[in-house]
Amino acid sequence: MESTQVDFYSLTLPQLRTFLTGLGKEKFRAQQLYKWVYEKNVTDPEMMTNLSKDFRQSLMERVTFKLPEMVDRRISVDGTRKYLFDIGNRQTVEAVMIPSDDRMTLCLSSEVGCNLACKFCFTGKQKLKRRLTAGEIVGQFLQVKMDMGETRLSNIVFMGMGEPLDNTDAVFDAIEIFKSDYGLNLSRKKITVSTSGLVPQIPLVTQSGTRLAVSLNAPNDEIRNEIMPINKKYPLKVLMEACREHANTTKDLVTFEYVLLKDVTDHIDHAEQVSQLIRNIPCKVNLIPFNEHPDSGYQRPSRNKVFQFQKRLVDKGFHVTIRRTMGRDIFAACGQLTSQYKGRPQQQNVSTGVLG
Ligand code: SAH
Ligand code: SF4
Repeated sequence: MESTQVDFYSLTLPQLRTFLTGLGKEKFRAQQLYKWVYEKNVTDPEMMTNLSKDFRQSLMERVTFKLPEMVDRRISVDGTRKYLFDIGNRQTVEAVMIPSDDRMTLCLSSEVGCNLACKFCFTGKQKLKRRLTAGEIVGQFLQVKMDMGETRLSNIVFMGMGEPLDNTDAVFDAIEIFKSDYGLNLSRKKITVSTSGLVPQIPLVTQSGTRLAVSLNAPNDEIRNEIMPINKKYPLKVLMEACREHANTTKDLVTFEYVLLKDVTDHIDHAEQVSQLIRNIPCKVNLIPFNEHPDSGYQRPSRNKVFQFQKRLVDKGFHVTIRRTMGRDIFAACGQLTSQYKGRPQQQNVSTGVLG
């Protein structure tokens, strides 16, 4: 029986309909089930009173409702919450809830490790171990939602561990579930997919209607090739073209994330070059002062340098924010986790996300 069980949290509404049709059930039962689970938080088929007894029985036999287990939770003085989830086989991923005045943003992981090997990134130091399933992505959200009680999560960003566009099936199924009227009912505009620049997959973000963030991180191909190997495959010209397409089609602004690495990407001339690169793209820029981690070989620039960089771009007419480092005391920012957890046997596979 085990082998024929399906994971409820991995199923989009159309997939659930197909599954239920296979069980000889009407299509509208999918909506009913979604409502039980996502609206009423009921996952015990016995309690789904508008379903027949035999249907409830087959649900119990054929469907699992298993969430990734929350094995650690830390709350920062600034309100940031960092969660660690066990996804089996001694592998863990993290999610971080970041509060601000007007929103509660949940940063989700899409993979354990990452193959794109960006030089400054802690996750990138670990080869990809596993891509998460849609259910494991939705599961992170549900667990945090439960933990937050009455406080509603308003935004989702795929900026935790992994490259979401390297795991498109699961990520876009999860997004469908987040957006579904009968599911979690989140607006597409409140979901952001961040990519290092997997150009062929960017149209999937466009189709999903979600917001696109691109980790630009360098002012020219030479430096980008050096710190982000993916640039050799999809250099800035094609990446910028894909961003322009996305912005033109969706009428949304693209967010360019730019990690400031001392003496590598933080020169004032670099700001000038960035302004040239993005000048024809409806966008905003988010500067991320580098979060140091052991053996990274890079450093965070001085605050002054960061402000100068920002000012140059602002003077050119761009909207530029500087990402605040949240949750410093709980090691929620990039590169601070592993050292904290090292040596704790049940958490040896802990790896860090890449939050700013
Ligand atoms: N793989 C995706 C999403 C996760 S990374 C991507 O690369 O876009 C989220 C952001 O954190 C990216 O913009 C990345 O460049 C940035 N980042 C990675 N390591 C960092 C570090 N040590 N300090 C600050 N930002 C970092
Ligand atoms: Fe992967 Fe993003 Fe880190 Fe690059 S920055 S290694 S794409 S997680």
